[in-house]
Amino acid sequence: MCKFCSEGHPNIHYSPAGEGSGALQGIRTGAGTMPSWSGEDGRRLLIRGGYVLSMDPGVGDFAGGDVLVSGSRIEAVGMKLEAGDAAVIDAAGMIVIPGFIDTHHHQFETALRGFLADCILINDGKPHSLYNYYEHMLQKFSMVYRPQDVYVNELFGSLSQIDAGVTTVMDVSQIHHSPEHSDAAVQALRDAGRRAVFGYFEGWGERSKYPEDARRLKKEHFSSDDQLLTMVMGGEIYIPGYERAWAIGRELGIPVALHVVGTFGMRDTFDSLASSGQFGPDNIFIHMTGMSDMAWKMAADAGAHVSLSVPIEMTMRHGMPPIQKALDLGMQPSLSTDVECTMTADPFTQMRSAMTLQRAFVNEDALGGKTDCAAMVTSRDVLRFATIEGAKGLKLDRKTGSLTPGKEADIVLLDASAINVAPLNHATGAVVTLMDRSNVDTVMVAGRIRKWRGELLDADIPKLRSELEASRDHLFEASGIDRDVFRN
Ligand SMILES: [Zn+2]
Repeated sequence: MCKFCSEGHPNIHYSPAGEGSGALQGIRTGAGTMPSWSGEDGRRLLIRGGYVLSMDPGVGDFAGGDVLVSGSRIEAVGMKLEAGDAAVIDAAGMIVIPGFIDTHHHQFETALRGFLADCILINDGKPHSLYNYYEHMLQKFSMVYRPQDVYVNELFGSLSQIDAGVTTVMDVSQIHHSPEHSDAAVQALRDAGRRAVFGYFEGWGERSKYPEDARRLKKEHFSSDDQLLTMVMGGEIYIPGYERAWAIGRELGIPVALHVVGTFGMRDTFDSLASSGQFGPDNIFIHMTGMSDMAWKMAADAGAHVSLSVPIEMTMRHGMPPIQKALDLGMQPSLSTDVECTMTADPFTQMRSAMTLQRAFVNEDALGGKTDCAAMVTSRDVLRFATIEGAKGLKLDRKTGSLTPGKEADIVLLDASAINVAPLNHATGAVVTLMDRSNVDTVMVAGRIRKWRGELLDADIPKLRSELEASRDHLFEASGIDRDVFRN
């Protein structure tokens, strides 16, 4: 029975590697047989004849290239690899990339997808601010979550992103109202079978054990480095006592992540942390809108990481996405979804928004007569932001983020022969400017195939969807918010 709901389904929706995968044996499609043992030690897979974008300058790109996977790892990348008895995955017409990395995603909100499509972030007293995220989501909906809501929201959001080729996420769960809520979030991330960073952000109410419960969580769930899940400490500076959270994160030796939003009144606190030398390479700063030049310089000098949610920052009034500011200081940002109640978690939307916005700034400068314009980001730059730079930001680049021999095999095959992409003339351009999730053909996490020829595996989506809808119904009813699907 599930620990987190009364529906009577088994706790594990997804069968971890090595268990229960027999049902997949022998699935046949026009494109070959899927090896049911993918990801197992000692078994080898050859992805053959694709356009390989390794995103590692030391490895390079290959047209008609191969990626050899042994167990959970990448063994070799190159042309015409000798692979003996390895099973072959035909990648003709495919672009082969490392899995996308989303460095900030509030997956616990999946049941409320799209509901706040037209809202802004907070009531800032300025025009159009009465309909806002903060009062609906954080002050009402989030207060009525039960552990089972956390579980199904997190699991469904995770599976959906595997389907979109996002093999790694930092899940920002601000829903730690009790240790049971926290355990439900961790269990869902584990059951999804994806690489994930559990972001232990705040919770509310008298049963919340944030931030002290971080020590238990780290010990119980994250004591091994040899697993798909790692942990980050949430250290929001708008919450009184945040210094304790930062100290616990540093005591545990895990990164400290936080939202940094000028319109949320954080500028003074952020400045004082900057000027007192509190920033470190373990900091992940989300948004960084409206911050002072001094704080930016201290963040860059400290080696802190910046995660940008470009479409969200633009639509929700966080302030203009500071992509040029980061680049001018030599910082390489990663890209992140933020909240699906307001914007999709599709990585292609993230990449296109970052690319078009940065280029719009530069184009405007050029049209205005400026001659020493900043460099324009390219499709390769933004694909880098969405892969290896995210891995670096989450301290996972020794494991993922590029197709580098020795790293774990988080690999995505994108169909460049599809009607919205063919004919292929530019690989990074096709990925960033043409593709969408319909082009995500095959997805592998640590060598294990999770999506095969367009089909998400190991998940009972109709069943999970009905559980998610039941959770949605509870959230609306208990919060007293009217679900008006035709709201203007
Ligand atoms: Zn956020």
